Amino acid sequence: MIIRLNHWIAGATVDAADGRTFDDVNPATGEVIAQVARGGAEDIRAAVQAARSAMDGPWGRSSAEERAAILEAAATAIERRTDELAEMESQDTGKPLAQARKIDIPRAVANMRFFAGAVRYDETGFYPMPGAFNYTLRKPVGVVGLITPWNLPLYLLTWKVAPALAMGNAVVAKPSELTPLTASALAQILGEAGLPDGAFNLVHGLGAEAGQALVEHPEVRGISFTGGTETGAAVATTAAPLFKKLSLELGGKNPTLVFADCDFDKAVAGSCRAAMTNQGQICLSGSRILVERSLYQRFLPALVKRVESLQVGDPSKAETHMGSLISQEHRDKVESYLELARQEGGTILCGGKRPQLPSPFDQGAFLQPAVIADLPHDSRTATEEIFGPVVSVHPFDSEDEAVKMANSVRYGLSASVWTRDLDRAHRLGRRLETGMVWVNTWLLRDLRVPFGGVKNSGVGREGGRWSMEFFSEATNICVAVEEEA
Ligand code: NAD
Repeated sequence: MIIRLNHWIAGATVDAADGRTFDDVNPATGEVIAQVARGGAEDIRAAVQAARSAMDGPWGRSSAEERAAILEAAATAIERRTDELAEMESQDTGKPLAQARKIDIPRAVANMRFFAGAVRYDETGFYPMPGAFNYTLRKPVGVVGLITPWNLPLYLLTWKVAPALAMGNAVVAKPSELTPLTASALAQILGEAGLPDGAFNLVHGLGAEAGQALVEHPEVRGISFTGGTETGAAVATTAAPLFKKLSLELGGKNPTLVFADCDFDKAVAGSCRAAMTNQGQICLSGSRILVERSLYQRFLPALVKRVESLQVGDPSKAETHMGSLISQEHRDKVESYLELARQEGGTILCGGKRPQLPSPFDQGAFLQPAVIADLPHDSRTATEEIFGPVVSVHPFDSEDEAVKMANSVRYGLSASVWTRDLDRAHRLGRRLETGMVWVNTWLLRDLRVPFGGVKNSGVGREGGRWSMEFFSEATNICVAVEEEA
């Protein structure tokens, strides 16, 4: 059955202004699962107007407690609907259902709960001075645009929606055109949780149409964008001369550094998990593994064995570790990197082929996870973001060389370091040019900590007070005090 998805504007579902739609495809089967309203500038104008009206109405005067209560009610509703939402996420992305149930949806619940709590306990500054005192207020930015990618749809959308609403903004969201299902469900959930009409609006559509119109709209005062680096550059080009607040969470080519003194089994398992979770389609994916040379010959076969043990196939089966990639086009791109790797001197030790799967999965965008050795660390394959189940492994001789290799790419999102030497771990934490460094783990998240990258991985940080600062404008109020009566 093909469902119909509309925009959500001013608390109601609406067709695209010009009636156009686009198809939403389940990439694991190639089936069309939804027809989606294809938004453009007119739909964005309507959504921004609804958001502006919400800011001018009771929502603009709401208390932190009222907003926290709505976020909590939404969290509870998402939690109650975990199975249904996980099913949608799996169908939209091709990812294993078990992963959507265990990671994507629980994290969406946690995002909503976390910012409900955070805004309740938020504190601002008080600065007494001779003859006056200052206090700062956080005011909402106003109407904010949220643009999100397809790899972790509800997880990343709620990561922006929760702090934006907690701080009292009105939202116009533009989710990825490849994964619209859970965004529509979220709109309905927020409405049922008591969010006033217009405080959350959703416009579906393509990046160049709806996304671009959202970034261009003069009344949208802030844009929070997560997606590819090239798109981020286009968004920044449009937003900068309009002086919008801008947060950019972009791509990565994240190194996993494995030292000879590591806990070997944990390092192999951790490197494999970092490279292949979500079919390697995570901005934080550890897609380059740098291994101390004395361990290299032992590490490679252990990694290959582990990667080969990953079951690729039907996303709904409990034993499936890896589902399909997001689309046929994306698989073509990933395969083109495997071809490039061969030309650049790489040896593909395992994977890289399309698995033979029964119908309907024979129509899906599946790919066996690949491990590549013998590539120069500065080759294109080893330095460009592939965003798929492909990892290259490179030996190094010293800590200095490892740092140099790790820092040699244009990205700087995250790194993970596997060592038992604590001094080394702290040293590398300082020397690695990334926004995040994990030691003996990967993607372990505390929602209070800063999340984001340096270099071409983005500008700004999300998480805890960083998100709350982004979604608010600090206003200082200085009050003179007569010292003597
Ligand atoms: P993408 O850049 O193609 O699309 C992201 C979003 O931007 C989509 O909603 C798209 O419709 C929209 N968009 C496209 N062109 C636009 C334009 N001109 N103006 C406004 N919006 C536009 O990225 P993707 O393929 O959906 O996602 C994969 C990328 O996202 C990878 O590079 C990955 O590393 C990155 N990512 C980063 C993080 C992070 O937190 N740093 C998290 C997840 C994904």
